[in-house]
Amino acid sequence: MLNQPNFHEYFQFEQVLKKQRELKNPYWTFQAHSEVIYQGTAFPLWKVICEDKTSKKKSEEKVTLILTGGVHGLEKIGSQLCVSLIEKYFELSTWDLVFQNKLQDIRLVFFPFINPVGIQERTRSNGKGVDLMRNAPIEAKEKVPALAGGHRVSNWLPWYRGKVDEPMQIESQFLVDEVTREILRSKFTLSLDIHSGFGFKDQIWFPWAFSKNPYPKLDFITVMMEYFEKLYPFHIYKIEPQSKVYCTHGDLWDYIAHERIKNLNYVPLTLELGSWIWVKKNPLQIFKLDGLFNPIKKHRIKRTLRRHQLLIDFMIRFLLYSQSEQFKNLDLLDYYNKGLEKWYPQHKTLK
Ligand SMILES: [Zn+2]
Repeated sequence: MLNQPNFHEYFQFEQVLKKQRELKNPYWTFQAHSEVIYQGTAFPLWKVICEDKTSKKKSEEKVTLILTGGVHGLEKIGSQLCVSLIEKYFELSTWDLVFQNKLQDIRLVFFPFINPVGIQERTRSNGKGVDLMRNAPIEAKEKVPALAGGHRVSNWLPWYRGKVDEPMQIESQFLVDEVTREILRSKFTLSLDIHSGFGFKDQIWFPWAFSKNPYPKLDFITVMMEYFEKLYPFHIYKIEPQSKVYCTHGDLWDYIAHERIKNLNYVPLTLELGSWIWVKKNPLQIFKLDGLFNPIKKHRIKRTLRRHQLLIDFMIRFLLYSQSEQFKNLDLLDYYNKGLEKWYPQHKTLK
């Protein structure tokens, strides 16, 4: 007999699952895909979909927002945020007419526990010692930091990519396949992968991790960030291409957007929550390994979860807006050039 996963966020998720079994909420689908077996425990890989299946619109006419957490097991706050968003939208879908109405046009897809073994074992890598965010078959075109950029030396060291000819890990393959499936059945897809790392500021990274070249959907990013800043002038995020921070091999989002999809109807974003601020406020947590990556005090966890829900609500609105005539009538080339000046000053603007 195999055991069930045994960590707090999973129990919280099971509560929603239980509710769904009782209520049979027509907007929601909970799918357990393949399992990862690790030391006597079976960890299902969950995909949760919220959509209006009765909407007259075909799937290809809708947009999709994908939210993922727990790629790096130790950074549990990503899974916590995903589960709290599932709870929130589950609740709203039962009565909020505005939200129900939005589901005519948008589909929400959640992957709350990409690396469940890592979450339970409090490790960055999966059970085989592979860092899933270095695991894709895509090589950086730039210099990457030694080890941290991804290496094939040994799974005893962090940031291990796996062996060169090995297929991707079950968890990586699951994510790549399911995200690709969603992109192909949608008009446009935006994804947000939630991590927590070192630094004082919360950061939003857009592609690429493998190249310092300008990201082709820079116009979309620039409009999005300008609107966000207008709405929340005192927002807390630092927004930049990941390559400005550091480059890596094997990034799953690069792989999907650059190798698998090769068209422009998809934008992957990463939210990197600055965890040093939590340590600064509570220096004792430095002695707990997961305390480095996660807020420990209850009120701080709640505040973190609440604060980022604003961003997700904004993303839903912006994603819907991005398909409107009004958006298409914007001077997108001008926005692209603005983005170039801001983030890639060494590149010439386009005429
Ligand atoms: Zn991470």
